Amino acid sequence: MFKKILVANRGEIALRIQRACRELGVKAVMVYSEADKDAKYVKLAEEAVCIGPAASALSYLNMPAIISAAEVTDAEAIHPGYGFLSENADFAERVEKSGFQFIGPTPESIRIMGDKVSAKQAMIRAGVPCVPGSEGELPDDPVQIRRIAKSVGYPVIIKAAGGGGGRGMRVVHTEAALINAVQMTKAEAGAAFGNPAVYMEKFLQNPRHVEIQILADKHKNAVYLGERDCSMQRRHQKVIEEAPAPGIPRKLIEKIGERCVAACKKINYRGAGTFEFLYENGEFYFIEMNTRVQVEHPVTEWVTGVDIVKTQIMVAAGEKLPFTQKQIEIRGHAIECRINAEDPFKFTPSPGRVTSWHMPGGPGVRVDSHVYNNYFVPPNYDSMIGKLIVHGDTREQALARMQTALNETVIEGINTNIPLHRELMVDAKFMQGGTNIHYLEHWLSQHKR
Ligand code: ADP
Repeated sequence: MFKKILVANRGEIALRIQRACRELGVKAVMVYSEADKDAKYVKLAEEAVCIGPAASALSYLNMPAIISAAEVTDAEAIHPGYGFLSENADFAERVEKSGFQFIGPTPESIRIMGDKVSAKQAMIRAGVPCVPGSEGELPDDPVQIRRIAKSVGYPVIIKAAGGGGGRGMRVVHTEAALINAVQMTKAEAGAAFGNPAVYMEKFLQNPRHVEIQILADKHKNAVYLGERDCSMQRRHQKVIEEAPAPGIPRKLIEKIGERCVAACKKINYRGAGTFEFLYENGEFYFIEMNTRVQVEHPVTEWVTGVDIVKTQIMVAAGEKLPFTQKQIEIRGHAIECRINAEDPFKFTPSPGRVTSWHMPGGPGVRVDSHVYNNYFVPPNYDSMIGKLIVHGDTREQALARMQTALNETVIEGINTNIPLHRELMVDAKFMQGGTNIHYLEHWLSQHKR
């Protein structure tokens, strides 16, 4: 096992990794920007290194600063968390070339999966079902683009090969709108991701977002840890996640889970990863793979009893997975609400001083957050400031626990989306389970204020 790990991230996930390190008896070096210098997880760390000013580009995305922090502190490995440099193949490569272990897959795996076109091609080869669409990148010739769209069938969605975070996608309903949409998405993709390549998929009308969590070691062992339903989304961004996915037969999950495990073995994958699918009419369609730990990992941890972050570290250190597929059992039901510092209905960010922070507790309640009374939410980063996770023997019990937990929660000084979550947890359709990816947007348009 490593003696010391550098955590190249901030906020709740930095704290989550710090906690995993403590349990493993590994020292965690925290890095921080000037905006995060007072954060409690930074103060509580045995070692912490300032890597630059508030702007992410100068700190959490600053590769030389992070690598020198690892050098001066004698860390052996770097955990990238999620977001920032976590899916940057060049970073993974520089980390390994500098003599550190990157806690994640190989740079090659990240590169293949980071390009959605090559990811899809790899999945097709590995026998994972994909959304029907263009065979690869779209050509420039409008005649050919129209021909591809016709054979895929409208509506189609134009997606950036290098896209992420719900950006770089455009839905097209008619041939008249096609070429302009392709050109606009290409221009945006070039500017935002440095890669203008786009591809086309059939736009599924009412799918659910269901994803499979996997863990793989360096000894060709891989397991899937069941699924998560992340259909409650706004602007393609997840808001609520749960495990298991309501109403999907276990047999179907097992079949797709086994496909994912086979794909991992085929591409020599190591570490934690998520295969994201759209699920419609009993069929799974692969959309992308995330090569890192995800925000929503706690719901899977709770229903399987597996500590995903600890296991990531163990397999990076060369240990074998400490469990087999047969030992993975899904117990009960878990739900996660992402807590965002934003207006609950208008979604304008709401950074600032938290004057009161009172979190819920009791059986089956977990809070993953770095926030505390008098914490200042900096305006420089993502608005997510924590996660509230509950577990119950049944989905009904989990819902009841989440309702109670949300009602106990008091956050003052800034706006949060807790009031939105309170309403969604008593919404009849959500309570029934199985809402699709458009449900939340539709609900919001009907509950305007
Ligand atoms: P990102 O990397 O930006 O998260 P994804 O490819 O994972 O992009 O897609 C994000 C979300 O966009 C999905 O969860 C789904 O809501 C929507 N989406 C993506 N592809 C399709 C599609 N072919 N049909 C319908 N919705 C889609």
